[in-house]
Amino acid sequence: MQIKDFYNKGKTVVSFEIFPPKMGSGTIENITDKLEGFSQLNPDFISVTYGATGKTTGRTCDIAGKVKNEFNIESLAHVTCLSSTKEVVIDTLDRLKDNGINNILALRGDFPAGEQFSIPNPLHFEYASDLIAFIKQHYGDTFSLGAACYPEGHIESRSLTQDILNLKTKVDTGVDFLVSQLFYDNEQYYRFLDRSAKAGIHVPISAGIMPVINAKQIHNIVTLCGATLPRKFIRILDKYEDNPSALMEAGIMYATDQIIDLVTNDVEGIHIYTMNRPEVASKIIENISHILKRG
Ligand code: FAD
Repeated sequence: MQIKDFYNKGKTVVSFEIFPPKMGSGTIENITDKLEGFSQLNPDFISVTYGATGKTTGRTCDIAGKVKNEFNIESLAHVTCLSSTKEVVIDTLDRLKDNGINNILALRGDFPAGEQFSIPNPLHFEYASDLIAFIKQHYGDTFSLGAACYPEGHIESRSLTQDILNLKTKVDTGVDFLVSQLFYDNEQYYRFLDRSAKAGIHVPISAGIMPVINAKQIHNIVTLCGATLPRKFIRILDKYEDNPSALMEAGIMYATDQIIDLVTNDVEGIHIYTMNRPEVASKIIENISHILKRG
């Protein structure tokens, strides 16, 4: 099934994001137990991230295939393009197609810091929209295409206005749905939805929620993506950063609170950045089982 068809059915589309285990930390079998846990929560789809160096490409394809074929859950495979050649992209897409994957989150990616990698010179793809046009040209409607969006603007962008103009171009190239960057201030998200709609972006958008379970990880991620941290959130980080169990409890409640507000305001989808922790996703979903409009 194509993910675009999950939206607009009067329910909140619920999805989880997982990442392949790091190279050297075991085989993809390590993720099977986690997928058992996630599958019991009945998500509409699970997305599988893609390492920008290309070193874990095979794992993304295998895990996305496992989600779909062993767990019967719709799978969204992330594919980045900045450091890839057209040939590598074709290999990846063919492999995904052979694994029965119908949905791709088409991303630019970043140059991985401090790692040895080779990049094509000149670049084969500069922006995600180049990848989207390439997939459309070579694969037609084989895949339903999603793309990333940034409620507070992409970190490299001069302004949110400019970023939304670029987003509109990207969507018009052939995007069926968007998945947002994490955010901790829902008001920023609502402003972004309004501005996107005014710019003529009308595809469904899932809101990215990352429960804080580790203070250091959140500081790193927020530095990379520039998300605003509300006072209430900073106080939680400051008070519980040395007490992991308390931080996790507070993080789960903060994410729950965000989601209740989002669902109450009729967002189309919630995408939980699970950090491969089914027990965290499970607590959130349990907290709001009557609030989530599920089909
Ligand atoms: P683009 O849409 O190409 O945008 C990148 C920048 O270029 C933006 O500032 C945009 O405004 C600007 N821009 C776009 N088009 C133009 C144009 N025509 N002219 C001038 N400027 C333009 N990274 C990974 O490595 N692996 C993953 O699996 C992964 N998954 C992600 C999932 C989600 C939901 C999100 C939000 C991000 C994910 N990322 C992932 C990170 C992503 O690769 C980075 O944020 C990257 O910096 C931008 O990717 P993009 O696809 O949004 O790029």
